[in-house]
Amino acid sequence: MTKKSPGINTICTHTGELEDKQFKGAISPLYMSTSYAFEDVDVKRYPRYFNTPNQVALAKKMAALEHGEAALIFGSGMAAVSTCLLAFLHSGDHVVLQNTLYGGTSNLVVEEFAKFGIEYSFTNNLKPESFEAEIKKNTKVIYIETPSNPLLTITDIKAVADIAMKHGLVSMIDNTFASPLNQNPIDFGIDIVIHSATKYMGGHSDILAGTVISSEEYIDKVFQLAKNFGGSLSDYTVWLLERSIKTMGIRVKAQNKNAKKIARFLERHADIEKVYYPGLKSHPDHQLAKSQMHGFGGMLSFELKEGLDAGLFQKKLNLIKSSMSLAGIESTILSPTLTSHALLTPEERENQGIRDGLMRFSLGIEEKEDLIADIEQALAEVRGNEVRS
Ligand SMILES: *Cc1c(COP(=O)(O)O)cnc(C)c1O
Repeated sequence: MTKKSPGINTICTHTGELEDKQFKGAISPLYMSTSYAFEDVDVKRYPRYFNTPNQVALAKKMAALEHGEAALIFGSGMAAVSTCLLAFLHSGDHVVLQNTLYGGTSNLVVEEFAKFGIEYSFTNNLKPESFEAEIKKNTKVIYIETPSNPLLTITDIKAVADIAMKHGLVSMIDNTFASPLNQNPIDFGIDIVIHSATKYMGGHSDILAGTVISSEEYIDKVFQLAKNFGGSLSDYTVWLLERSIKTMGIRVKAQNKNAKKIARFLERHADIEKVYYPGLKSHPDHQLAKSQMHGFGGMLSFELKEGLDAGLFQKKLNLIKSSMSLAGIESTILSPTLTSHALLTPEERENQGIRDGLMRFSLGIEEKEDLIADIEQALAEVRGNEVRS
């Protein structure tokens, strides 16, 4: 009989933990050494080789969380993204990327890839046909991100993984917005899963980290480049991240629940034009989201009715803070027009479906009644200043 793998909260709390043999303490001891005696000629332990005790222990937890064989822990989400892409793309190769990607990832591709002689195409939309249409003779990698930022669009993970397999390509996904609680892309045939662990894995807005999860074979390929690029995470932060992940299960479930309730509240509200949340029946990809997600996540976006000032709304919120980052236990909000997408022209924003009244909302774990009260009082203030064009 095969052993049943432990449930998600058990993995979060225990998988990979190090035993404190000396004092029998409850938690993994922290090993800060940058110098280790040779155990044998093959094992050279060194933090930049991704093989210190705490790194190896946390990698086991990451692999278990995403149903992979192995994992690496990086110093940031972008260190994970860049190392992973460049491990599989050489000069003369081509990569197909989803058109709606995290800004840092688009910047990496657009600003750096020409230097390496790597060609790239962005899809026209998220339909599987759009990915297949961009494949060329020299394509090596397909890269997706779902749910996407800021409109929470959904890409069909299995369809893209199947296309990659059919054409012999390596498929990669940025699974940050979903977290391993809500979506496990390896189950749908994706080769490599990437997370910015700065977000739901860290969860307290105090850790910058990234992770890559895949097969032993692919993780070894990523490692061969990673050790030369030098993007490993300090053991102290690895240890903090392990602690954070112990509560990820209960945190993310609470965030899912808040997001669903607030999405429903906003959808019924007279001052709200539109709500984007994959858990709502009104979301165009609700059925697809349901088929590939265990939960719909803690991120949503909404548009204020025309004439209501998004900048003022943000200022009038008390409990909900405006912030660039996301996924912490505290609720945060931002206006893409004023921040992440400020450098685009109004036409470019309109083409991407980003209106001036759009707000991106990262739900924390506060009581939903308090969040609703904060939104209501801010809306009342903004209505008082309403300008009708
Ligand atoms: C934040 C983020 C990243 C980048 O991660 P860092 O830890 O900031 O380097 C990548 N992808 C997504 C979806 C993100 O939200």
